[in-house]
Amino acid sequence: MSILHSLKTGDPGRAKEGDFPVESLYTAGIAGEKFLTALRDRGVLLASRCEACSVTTLLARAFCEKCLSPTDSYPEVKGAGEVKTYTLLRRDLDGNPIDPPEILAFVVFEGVEGGVIHRLDEVAADEVKVGLRVEMVLRKQAEREGSILDLSHFRPVSTASGR
Ligand SMILES: [Zn+2]
Repeated sequence: MSILHSLKTGDPGRAKEGDFPVESLYTAGIAGEKFLTALRDRGVLLASRCEACSVTTLLARAFCEKCLSPTDSYPEVKGAGEVKTYTLLRRDLDGNPIDPPEILAFVVFEGVEGGVIHRLDEVAADEVKVGLRVEMVLRKQAEREGSILDLSHFRPVSTASGR
């Protein structure tokens, strides 16, 4: 019986009861794996570099977004970051108040296109401003697992130097 026959006659669908295995494997991709491995093992942010376009992009990508050429290299991002924009989370997913509010920031680096959206901590919400210079705070080496959360949060550079 063809599927067309079923449509014409209106035969009921058939179902098979029971379990069957479904497996899936998520990968971060070529560039994503390099990025996460570098963050876990060396505590650095990896960008991707296209020499043809003279562009360095964060997070690392396997191909240049401008010319679609394969990435030439994966340089480490150096120096302090800068808060490009931010938002305050005052409610959790269930609507419960978060006090003090959690801060999420889009952090950019000089000479690098793109950036990282991540938690900003060790600063009061009313002291955050666009242009604030920040640095990474990593999880302890033994706690890192190849996740973007191996980067615990960003904090103001001045806060870190005062400790
Ligand atoms: Zn390019």
